[in-house]
Amino acid sequence: MISELQINEERTISREEAIEILNTPDEQLDELISCAEKLRRKYKGNHVSVHILTNARSGNCSQDCAYCAQSCRSKAEIDKYKWVSDETLYQHNDLVNKYHLSRHCIGLSGMKFTDKEIEELAQRIRVMKEKCAHLCCSIGFLTEKQACMLKEAGLDRINHNLNTGRNYYSKICTTHTFEQRVENIHMLQRLGFEICSGGIIGMGESREDVADMLLELREIRPEALPINFLLPIAGTPLENADVSVLTPSYCMKVLCLARLMLPKSDIRCAAGREIYFKGEEKKLLSVVDSIFASGYLTESGQGIEDTIRAVTDAGFECEIESM
Ligand code: SF4
Repeated sequence: MISELQINEERTISREEAIEILNTPDEQLDELISCAEKLRRKYKGNHVSVHILTNARSGNCSQDCAYCAQSCRSKAEIDKYKWVSDETLYQHNDLVNKYHLSRHCIGLSGMKFTDKEIEELAQRIRVMKEKCAHLCCSIGFLTEKQACMLKEAGLDRINHNLNTGRNYYSKICTTHTFEQRVENIHMLQRLGFEICSGGIIGMGESREDVADMLLELREIRPEALPINFLLPIAGTPLENADVSVLTPSYCMKVLCLARLMLPKSDIRCAAGREIYFKGEEKKLLSVVDSIFASGYLTESGQGIEDTIRAVTDAGFECEIESM
């Protein structure tokens, strides 16, 4: 039972305990939330970091990630483009400053990039850094040279998700391996990048797989850990995925476990927030301290002003990191 676990930071949660936490009976959920909230308050106070996301390169990806509308396997009807217009990119970046958001996240579809493409991205990063925004790029496998080019341009953080547990990875992607992802993250950490790395829940994985993913993330110690709850997208292999497992209480147990295992990381409720936690922002934000305001690459979100209002209405403050 959770109360018997006496969760605290001096005590490392084992795999068995992690699975037990995911199996917490619903009548003990409030107790679990209050354990997680203590750590959230200790390390994150009352702050919520609000991020916006720009899909800078969309579609035509050579990889076969089953959840992704941008994959070569996907028949989803999405916009496909090599670079979003500079006007859109910089307008979004200005919103970070206008609304005092925490970070501008920039997603690029694809797994490999030429040095020329990375230099084009670096030029855009330099322009955006002049406005002091904190930036994170979600980008595939970089060479060390390419990572250094982005670091030199001022990029603060890179997102590279593990997505699911090691043993389940080949069920959702066959064109690269889990280990390649881990190695890429370690290379980026050696070069001094902050890391954002998390996963997606609801792809048919077991609770053991979720625990295993979080155990791997505990080794990585990312500065930010986004948890997405699957939004099945028509035209992707997971369009008919059974997401009945994603009850608000199970989603909350996953987020609590993430907080308990990585108490100092920014725990972000990413995709699915608007569905699984609608009207439950106060409870959600008592565990997580980070959310997106403006959509998830090919899916829309709540909008900046509504998100800020939801944060303040729930009694929290938006963290001001940008100018
Ligand atoms: S998740 Fe990334 S690597 Fe996988 S298909 Fe989508 S864009 Fe490509």
